[in-house]
Amino acid sequence: MKSLTKYPGQRQSFQLTKTEFSGKDHPRIGVLAIQGNYASHSQALIEAGAEPVEVRKPSQLAGLDGLILPGGESTTMLRFLEKHLFFEVLQEFCSKKPIFGTCAGAILLAREVRNPAQRSLGVLDAVVERNAYGRQIDSTILTAETTLAGGPLEMVFIRAPRIVETGAGVDILALRDGFPALVKQGRIMAATFHPELSSDRRVHRLFVQIVTATASK
Ligand code: GLN
Repeated sequence: MKSLTKYPGQRQSFQLTKTEFSGKDHPRIGVLAIQGNYASHSQALIEAGAEPVEVRKPSQLAGLDGLILPGGESTTMLRFLEKHLFFEVLQEFCSKKPIFGTCAGAILLAREVRNPAQRSLGVLDAVVERNAYGRQIDSTILTAETTLAGGPLEMVFIRAPRIVETGAGVDILALRDGFPALVKQGRIMAATFHPELSSDRRVHRLFVQIVTATASK
């Protein structure tokens, strides 16, 4: 069902996938600190048992076990990344280490970006539509069941994108209106919402687990 084949008038249907991990604690995880909610991500990482490191230049990626690309404005972030070979260094980092993109960060990770199209890192096998919910309902808080243990999860959406296609290697952990809101493709994670703005730390804990499991391989 997750094939990328498209039929006129018929959209891809998505199904939830279960995920479990184990690993050791306290990895060093970078948070891209150009713009957006990076401070809340750093706090969330501390609460999830990791050591956050604010990243403002490519050299600061060295020695990190993973990285979060926060929400904000993907075009602004992209413009910044396109200076000083940051984009290329980040692409190289993404090819080896765990990376978690939230909202604008998810847009930066996608294989293809629409509405409008823009350059992306292309490490997540997904097509993402920016600002998919229009102006009136551009920001909303929903609570829904996910594949994470522990009951329904609060999801804060702010001018959220929508994941409209995913490849076969992408696990879907949460949905909004039938479209993936939280996905995982090996060591890559993406959320169309802002987990750092809720008090529930299950999403960050999952990423920390992916990072520790990858680091101990
Ligand atoms: N609408 C923003 C974009 O397209 C993303 C919004 C967000 O990160 N909260 O980049």
